[in-house]
Amino acid sequence: MNNPSTLDALIEALRCLPGVGPKSAQRMAYHLLQYDREGAARLSTALATALAQVRHCRLCNSFTEDEVCRLCRSGTRDASTLCVVEMPADLMMMEQTQIYRGMYFVLMGRLSPLDGVGPRELHLERLLKRVEDGQVREVLLATNFTAEGEATAHYIGELLKGRGLRVTRIARGVPVGGELEYTDAGTLAQAILERRELS
Ligand SMILES: [Zn+2]
Repeated sequence: MNNPSTLDALIEALRCLPGVGPKSAQRMAYHLLQYDREGAARLSTALATALAQVRHCRLCNSFTEDEVCRLCRSGTRDASTLCVVEMPADLMMMEQTQIYRGMYFVLMGRLSPLDGVGPRELHLERLLKRVEDGQVREVLLATNFTAEGEATAHYIGELLKGRGLRVTRIARGVPVGGELEYTDAGTLAQAILERRELS
C-alpha cells in the first residue's frame, strides 16, 4: 500500500471510534473520499462545531451548549431528588416514563476496572459536591442492572453513607443484565415507583 500520508492520517484518526480496527477504518476512509465526499464534509463540520460548542452541564454533567442545561434551569423540577444515571440516553429514558420529576446527575460512564475506569475517571467528586447543595434529600441510583452498573450503584451508595441522604435504587422491574436504554418506559416507570432503600 502506498497511501498518501494525509489518507493514512485519516485512517489512523478514524480508529478513535469505539470498535473500529484498522480494516474498518480504512473502509470508512475510502468510502468517504470515494462515494460520499458531501457526507464527509458534513461530518467534518458537525464534528468541529460540536467540539467547539458542546460541553458538560455544571450541575448534571450531561451534554449541553450552555453552562447549565435547560432541565437543570427549569424551575418546575423537584430539587430534593437527584437521579444518578450512566449516560444521557438513560436520562432520556427516565424522562419518557413521565413519572420522575426530580433532577439528574449523569456519570458519563460506569465503574469498569477492566477498561481502566475507576472512581477518579468518573469524577465522582463532582457528584459529591452536587448532593451537598442543601436541597437534595434523596439520591435515586438508576444505573444499569449489568454487573458494572450494579457495582457502580453499590460504590456510590457506600460513598453517600453518613451524609444524611436517603439513597434508593430503582427496583428490579428492569431485567437482570438490563440496560435502561433498551427497557420500555412502562417497566422503567414501575421500577421507579418500587424503588427501595439501598442497604
Ligand atoms: Zn444539567
